[in-house]
Amino acid sequence: MGPKDTASPTRRRVVAMGAGILSAPALVAVAGQVAAQQAPGSGRSGQGDGVPAMQNPLTQYPKPPFPRQAKQDPPGLAGLMNPRPDHGETSYRGSGRLAGRKALVTGGDSGIGRAAAIAFAREGADVAIGYLPVEEPDAREVIELIRAEGRKAVALPGDIRDEGFCRRLVADAVQQLGGLDILVNNAARQASQKSIEDITTEQFDATFKTNVYAMFWITKAAMPHLQPGAAIINTSSIQAYEPSENLLDYAQTKACIVAFTKAMAKQLAPRGIRVNSVAPGPIWTPLQPSGGQPLEALDSFGAKTPLGRPGQPAELAATYVLLASQESSYVTGEVYGVTGGNPTA
Ligand code: NAD
Ligand code: MG
Repeated sequence: MGPKDTASPTRRRVVAMGAGILSAPALVAVAGQVAAQQAPGSGRSGQGDGVPAMQNPLTQYPKPPFPRQAKQDPPGLAGLMNPRPDHGETSYRGSGRLAGRKALVTGGDSGIGRAAAIAFAREGADVAIGYLPVEEPDAREVIELIRAEGRKAVALPGDIRDEGFCRRLVADAVQQLGGLDILVNNAARQASQKSIEDITTEQFDATFKTNVYAMFWITKAAMPHLQPGAAIINTSSIQAYEPSENLLDYAQTKACIVAFTKAMAKQLAPRGIRVNSVAPGPIWTPLQPSGGQPLEALDSFGAKTPLGRPGQPAELAATYVLLASQESSYVTGEVYGVTGGNPTA
């Protein structure tokens, strides 16, 4: 926390509560405290409900130094992070931009995928989320939040390193949603290693299976179901452009995702299907304290960005909505950076 954050009683309460897993209603209450600063219509802009208040992005969210994070096994849970990530639970306001659409979001239980899933539901979409079975506590919260919007929520646990599961994931999403209009390939694994000599073949294989093969299998399985107007969004990373020495295998997969996005955009343009990517910078999600970074590195996570802090998942939601919606009808093959100011090219 920076000096301003520690001065805030609200922030202190959030930090204190961040240590345990909370029920969905409690989660909304806590996220509400975090989100209170950016509550629509509550700022000095003086605008009405549904309009986010103007404020300084430097101080909008927690910034380093952070308290030492609890070590988690991958894939990790959002509820064990301190402070808890803000996925837009109380702040995201929809305006019908995805009314009636059917979306599948892999890794939709936590982090960036959860923020996209919540936003899609608030924009009027029915949403299926993929996740690993051990993430059921996070997934349950998202399912409840989607249902609270009166939208259909479909929970699809399973391991996307398995081609057969990837095919079933798409088939089940299509069957239970009644079709598919938006596919978000977002699930990933990230395991920090100091040296190439520490990366086993098993790790290399698992990283590529999760981040690259699964995207290929899931997209391929989705093809027969996507109509003109459909949108595919693949989560890449600034790591595709500025690879860190400790993320050798992960960074390569993120470069693959950029190439896949650009080639698929050309391939699917004649079918009226757009394909784009979001390239996040450092974002406060369970990917990081569950082996994605050494825990001590998280104390200053995001400090090296021009904005001086990590992004919160909620800060990516509008980008996923934009790329999914008809408003971006002329945008395809694009990689949209959400990085706090570090360049993606
Ligand atoms: P996250 O841990 O909240 O989400 C990743 C999700 O991937 C997990 O919730 C899990 O459900 C899913 N997943 C992992 N292995 C899986 C498997 N074998 N089978 C099924 N699902 C599996 O973390 P996040 O940061 O929100 O990650 C979302 C995306 O954002 C990822 O593609 C990640 O590479 C990307 N990204 C994150 C950051 C960051 O700093 N957090 C930066 C750049 C890009
Ligand atoms: Mg998760």
